[in-house]
Amino acid sequence: MVQSLDRSQGRAGGLAADASAAPATFTGNRALQIEEPLIFEMGQPGRCGVDLPEPPKVKDRLNGLKRAGEIGLPGLSEPQVVQHYTRLSQKNYAIDMGVYPLGSCTMKHNPRINEKVARLPGIGDLHPLQPVSTVQGALELIDRLAHWLKALTGMPAVAMSPAAGAHGEMCGMMAIAAALEARGERVRRKVVLAPESAHGTNPATAAALGFTVKPIPANERGRVDLAALKAALGPDVAAIMLTNPNTCGLFESEIVEISKAVHDAGAFFYCDGANFNAIVGRVRPGDLGVDCMHINLHKTFSTPHGGGGPGAGPVVLSAALAPYAPYPWIVKDGDKWRVAEDGAAVDGKPLGRLKAFHGQMGMFTRALSYIMSHGADGLKQVAEDAVLSANYVMASLQDVMTPAFEGPCMHEALFDDSFLKDTGVSTLDFAKAMIDEGYHPMTMYFPLVVHGAMLIEPTESQAKEDLDLFIAALRSLAERAKSGTAEEEFKAAPRFAPRRRLDETLAARKPVLRWRPSNNPPEGDPMKQAAE
Ligand SMILES: *Cc1c(COP(=O)(O)O)cnc(C)c1O
Repeated sequence: MVQSLDRSQGRAGGLAADASAAPATFTGNRALQIEEPLIFEMGQPGRCGVDLPEPPKVKDRLNGLKRAGEIGLPGLSEPQVVQHYTRLSQKNYAIDMGVYPLGSCTMKHNPRINEKVARLPGIGDLHPLQPVSTVQGALELIDRLAHWLKALTGMPAVAMSPAAGAHGEMCGMMAIAAALEARGERVRRKVVLAPESAHGTNPATAAALGFTVKPIPANERGRVDLAALKAALGPDVAAIMLTNPNTCGLFESEIVEISKAVHDAGAFFYCDGANFNAIVGRVRPGDLGVDCMHINLHKTFSTPHGGGGPGAGPVVLSAALAPYAPYPWIVKDGDKWRVAEDGAAVDGKPLGRLKAFHGQMGMFTRALSYIMSHGADGLKQVAEDAVLSANYVMASLQDVMTPAFEGPCMHEALFDDSFLKDTGVSTLDFAKAMIDEGYHPMTMYFPLVVHGAMLIEPTESQAKEDLDLFIAALRSLAERAKSGTAEEEFKAAPRFAPRRRLDETLAARKPVLRWRPSNNPPEGDPMKQAAE
């Protein structure tokens, strides 16, 4: 929301100054958190940070299209620009600032060595249209990463080009569709099974490819209900899409039986590998009977992916599906690498191209750097430490919060909201109060199968002292919520943040994307409408 810059009244004028909030200040600033106006509000017409020469006088050849009015760009000095953007850069809570408990999200640690390698001129300056003879090292890098991914998953092939997890799902399910087509069963097998706890992208992918999605219920242990699965399997089923460990942070302990039942019914087993960080180096999905699985490089093998940054979703494929993998393939002829872009390079019928060029080179570089700097033994330890950290959080809080399921978890600790029953405090209030304590909230209300879900994923990279402080903060909040006297305080949270409870739905439905000077308010201002 645009905040007016009326200095005589102080900028905080528009902020709620109710008793539960931190005291209002004249500037609107809170300690060193600066109340930042939009750059357009700061700018003064005519001010400029650089000294440009007068443009030469040339004949106007614009045929009357020359701009008549002001260009409307903000005018600022260089320090104003630097200060504005530096202040903005400090507004976001980030993995480099502290514990980031979001679950179903994973990658928190982004070693600096990765960034260094990704910026080496021979890698950072590559252009995808460069002659192949000049990018031999890059192709070898992709091939070496592919080798690691195959070895870690125990699968014979990998399609490297998909650009994210959801794109990988599309790739894997297209390969399954192609294999069914080749068997003459594409029309008959139109059902895809997905557990109720599945990430939304699974049913979305299946539906986008024309399959009908049938949900499979979870049992009271938070796992796939095997009997329900077996009852749903039949000659019309194309595949199951299953996440393991699943989105409740639990290992599907009957995975081998599930895989056997699926194959006995003539269907394929698509594994969503977004949680691979919990088992990498310990379990090879290929040994569990998986036919294909995407790997979110940005969740398991580093790359900062907060804020929807770039991703990469290579898909490992079984021998039955490998022939349908999309191009391109990186192949070696003698001692030269080349990019194969047709079926002749492989023994099969590639399903075509899914993405321009070869995939996300920057992500490949970071993932390989992460993998090689850990080594096989280090990757195994990543999984062990991630699981240990999550169980430490769960065990430390289970007397004050309520774990959603019995027994140990994998890489994330899932709580439901029954510990908040009759307190008047909701999961949302609890999460907002975490902001006051200096923590980014955990994932909330996901997975949907758990009431008021709170999903915490510490990953392997937090020091024990930092986890201990985080645990103590949550314990304190849980105790305060249950004391029965803090409902108002929770409803008012966050009290110390520069912005408090925003109307996120309105912001998403009616985003204000264009700034207008306050003397020229937009017609039908959605913010005004909302206020009315
Ligand atoms: C993140 C995630 C996805 C989707 O991956 P993107 O890279 O965000 O497209 C799919 N399934 C699960 C379980 C996930 O956590």
